[in-house]
Amino acid sequence: MGLRWSRLYQTNGINSFMSAWKEYKEKLGITRPWDLLNPNEEKVSEEEAKSRYDVCLDCDRLISATKQCKECGCIMSLKVKLKRATCPLGKW
Ligand code: SF4
Repeated sequence: MGLRWSRLYQTNGINSFMSAWKEYKEKLGITRPWDLLNPNEEKVSEEEAKSRYDVCLDCDRLISATKQCKECGCIMSLKVKLKRATCPLGKW
């Protein structure tokens, strides 16, 4: 009996973890931080990056101290430069 409950808890724990991981990956989008180092990765113009970043600066999902997005965890001053990057809430 105890083992059964233990197993059920473990299963739910793993399912919760996998669900949270899937949600995190979806919000992260298709870009990764190291894409900035890839010379073949397309970047947006400085104006476009600033426009995107201005949206982030006004967003309540931005952690003001670190400038990270609470949705995707990315450092937004960098992510906004990637052409393929997207806002997980569709704000830009
Ligand atoms: S990426 Fe989107 S959700 Fe995240 S801080 Fe910027 S505008 Fe807000």
